[in-house]
Amino acid sequence: MIVYEELRVKTPKREVLLDITSNIKKLVKNSGIREGVCHVFVPHTTAAITINENADPAVMKDIVTYFKKLIPQVSGFSHMEGNSDAHIKTTLTGSSLDVLIHDGKLILGTWQGIMLAEYDGPRNRKVYVQIQGESP
Ligand code: ZN
Repeated sequence: MIVYEELRVKTPKREVLLDITSNIKKLVKNSGIREGVCHVFVPHTTAAITINENADPAVMKDIVTYFKKLIPQVSGFSHMEGNSDAHIKTTLTGSSLDVLIHDGKLILGTWQGIMLAEYDGPRNRKVYVQIQGESP
């Protein structure tokens, strides 16, 4: 069985990591799939997806702050749109991930959450989710 869903996320500022774990968990629950895999894909070139700690929000803030230091939004890039820093951060973070489903639940580590990484917001973003597996 395969279930396809799209999430819409409105990001609040230029650079932020948003915890979308509960949204993804809800889709998995609604799919009725008990054993399988959940594919998550972000169809953007200045937003990305990653897994990291969601217990302490300071971790997400530190990632954004350090990425800003590492790849500042400066002139001098060839791309004329002024958002090359966001494109580079997106490539470093990645556009997709897979999480296993067991017993009807996403299998994440205790401290792990699924984060939508916005690097050129605020914008309306899409997250494509495909849940594959067996349902009773
Ligand atoms: Zn661009």
